[in-house]
Amino acid sequence: MYRLNADQQKIVDTVRKIADERVAPHAADIDQTGTFPRESLRALADAGFLGLTVPKEYGGLGEGLRTMTAVLDEIAQRCASTAMVYKMHLCGVACYAAKPGIAGPHLRDAAAGRHLSTLAWSETGSRSHFWAPISQAQSVNGHLVLNADKSFVTSAGEADGYVVSTRTAGGTAPTDTMLYLVLREDAGMTTSGPWNGLGMRGNASAPMRLTKVRVTPDRALSDQSQGFASMLQTVLPVFGIGNAAIAVGVCEAAVASTAAHLTGKGFEHLNSKLADLPNLRARLAQMRTETDKARAHLTAVLDAVESGSPAAMLMILESKAAGGDSALQVTDLGMKACGGAAFAKHLSVERNFRDARALTVMAPTSDVLYDFIGKALCGMELF
Ligand SMILES: Cc1cc2nc3c(=O)[nH]c(=O)nc-3n(C[C@H](O)[C@H](O)[C@H](O)COP(=O)(O)OP(=O)(O)OC[C@H]3O[C@@H](n4cnc5c(N)ncnc54)[C@H](O)[C@@H]3O)c2cc1C
Repeated sequence: MYRLNADQQKIVDTVRKIADERVAPHAADIDQTGTFPRESLRALADAGFLGLTVPKEYGGLGEGLRTMTAVLDEIAQRCASTAMVYKMHLCGVACYAAKPGIAGPHLRDAAAGRHLSTLAWSETGSRSHFWAPISQAQSVNGHLVLNADKSFVTSAGEADGYVVSTRTAGGTAPTDTMLYLVLREDAGMTTSGPWNGLGMRGNASAPMRLTKVRVTPDRALSDQSQGFASMLQTVLPVFGIGNAAIAVGVCEAAVASTAAHLTGKGFEHLNSKLADLPNLRARLAQMRTETDKARAHLTAVLDAVESGSPAAMLMILESKAAGGDSALQVTDLGMKACGGAAFAKHLSVERNFRDARALTVMAPTSDVLYDFIGKALCGMELF
């Protein structure tokens, strides 16, 4: 469906095998216990997948958005928590690749499976409006001192590198921002609460506090005062398309779980299967149709990006909103089709239903995306 070439297909076939053998077996337990998916990530790291998008000169596979999309789709079909942790890592890698001078060693470590990255952007004060951090760097004796309350950080306390957003030292505009690389071993970076989410329960998306974290100016992962530009140009394509790819994977998992239930269970006293009920078959058909539509839309977005279409940025915004909506719709239909068995958590469709909800509240949220898209269509300023 994603129109991969032979090399890309080989990578996706490899990840499918890993996902079947070493990711899927942990998914239900990760969800139930809210455990960070260390073993699943180890499997991906051992096979070089933390370096999927790392440039080849740093030891990575040098792949782009299309392969990333197909890989995330496959992982999310087995474990959405693992896929989300992995996607946030790829967002971090995009920032590293934009500044290989400082981040080169970490790119090499990622390619070797030794470095997990993430974004620490959302703040308690500006909530989902991550583009306007309240925290502000201070310049002290040639160093930068970072203090911030980050409200949600995927892989909090688990990642090795954090791409931290903050207002530029001395800057006055809300979007005069910087991105800095903060490492796990830097003093003052602490996880400040637990993660016990409704869905994506393995994500460790806990709050983090930066207390007098000192970094040298060369830890900048954006140009001076250009954090906002890096968010939009470097990260948004990976984040938005990656989120949509996870949404498609969650849809696919819900379709499979629902089909298996409808064809496997039935009414003994009537000698019939659930699949003999036309209303349930229709729900399954709607799920399949919506999933195929979502994947086709994502492929069109990839085409627009790769061809340099002027519509590409708008379509990237669309992709996250549309993917999230599809995941909500498909998993809701799955819950209805599978009835009490789904409600009682006998089936993975219930986990898919909860995981899907996280995809729409991660910022930019669907509300904000539709507002941005509407403003763009009306020729209005987005920010
Ligand atoms: C599983 C998970 C993982 C996450 N991982 C990360 C991470 O790795 N790094 C990171 O930085 N953040 C992360 N986040 C945070 C995420 O990106 C959002 O910032 C967070 O979910 C926002 O929650 P909130 O309650 O602060 O939203 P609020 O900002 O309080 O929003 C509440 C509601 O208001 C709506 N709303 C807000 N503004 C507008 C507007 N202008 N127009 C219309 N409606 C609006 C929203 O859509 C939402 O429905 C994660 C969140 C989750 C759930």
